[in-house]
Amino acid sequence: MLCPMSQRLADPGLCASCAHARTVRGARASFWRCGRSDRDPSFPRYPRLPVLRCRGYEVREGGNPESAQPGGGTGSPAARANDQTL
Ligand code: SF4
Repeated sequence: MLCPMSQRLADPGLCASCAHARTVRGARASFWRCGRSDRDPSFPRYPRLPVLRCRGYEVREGGNPESAQPGGGTGSPAARANDQTL
């Protein structure tokens, strides 16, 4: 499901702090796109949001992974990222 960034309820989860996340800006809305999908088709181009776990997650330089966690979560972002089937 595409999730416009302009919708306040749309929480991107891990994508918000991931080095591979890209934003696509359209005329009426913007979307989160997974840059890993360019090289690995097992990743969805437009992941279903929020992404809570992802094997491709890598924290972006200067990113704050804790602030990107819906509901705060438990355990480290790396632990959550490594057990995802995305
Ligand atoms: S690798 Fe995972 S967390 Fe990173 S942008 Fe793609 S879907 Fe989002």
